[in-house]
Amino acid sequence: MTCDAASTVAGIRAVVATIAEHKVELTRLDRDIGDGDHGENMARGFTAVLAKLDTTEFDTPAAVLKMVASTLISTVGGAAGPLYGTAFLRASTAVKDQPTLDAQGVVTALTAARDGVVARGKAELEDKTMVDALTPAVNAARAAAEVGDDVAAVLRAAATDANLGAEATIPFQARKGRASYLGERSIGHKDPGATSTAYLLAALADAAAGSAAESS
Ligand code: ADP
Ligand code: MG
Repeated sequence: MTCDAASTVAGIRAVVATIAEHKVELTRLDRDIGDGDHGENMARGFTAVLAKLDTTEFDTPAAVLKMVASTLISTVGGAAGPLYGTAFLRASTAVKDQPTLDAQGVVTALTAARDGVVARGKAELEDKTMVDALTPAVNAARAAAEVGDDVAAVLRAAATDANLGAEATIPFQARKGRASYLGERSIGHKDPGATSTAYLLAALADAAAGSAAESS
């Protein structure tokens, strides 16, 4: 099973639904250690993405990812908008012109996304940011692809470890972004951006599992 433009669109539709479903929770997490807008920011961005999915034709996975990038950059705002925008843009560039992505292609895209977020936001592991979900996701995806897992299994591995990574942010003190202003008071709360990253990857994994079942 590989991932073409249509299955990438299906994956992003699943992300739109997940972000809408978890909007209130993401905002509540951001209220604890930020300014309480992360769910709203993400929902606004992915609602705009949905409108473009409905009106645009895409030839490649990269074209879908590029549209998501530019839409998030222009609609999400805050810290997360440019960071997620960079993630999708770097992922798009990394797999440019490939009509389908295999498991290795997915690893390449995820790695580029993570590297883009790190380049832009300069967060290190355990700074209590989305990097704490992205880096374990990349590592798990790479390990899964190395043992021959398919696209759906690679995305599942990424999602599972992103979720563990997001949970693991709870005891960390934030050292980047708005939450860092709280100092020690940021300890004991789950990072909203790491949480949205875990939801996003889970949606992609669910969608890939769904298309794998359809084509078998
Ligand atoms: P803002 O903080 O501007 O209100 P959001 O609430 O939408 O933006 O997003 C907050 C999330 O952004 C945080 O939970 C964190 O995961 C992520 N974030 C903030 N700064 C950075 C950074 N420098 N690197 C990576 N992620 C970051
Ligand atoms: Mg915020």
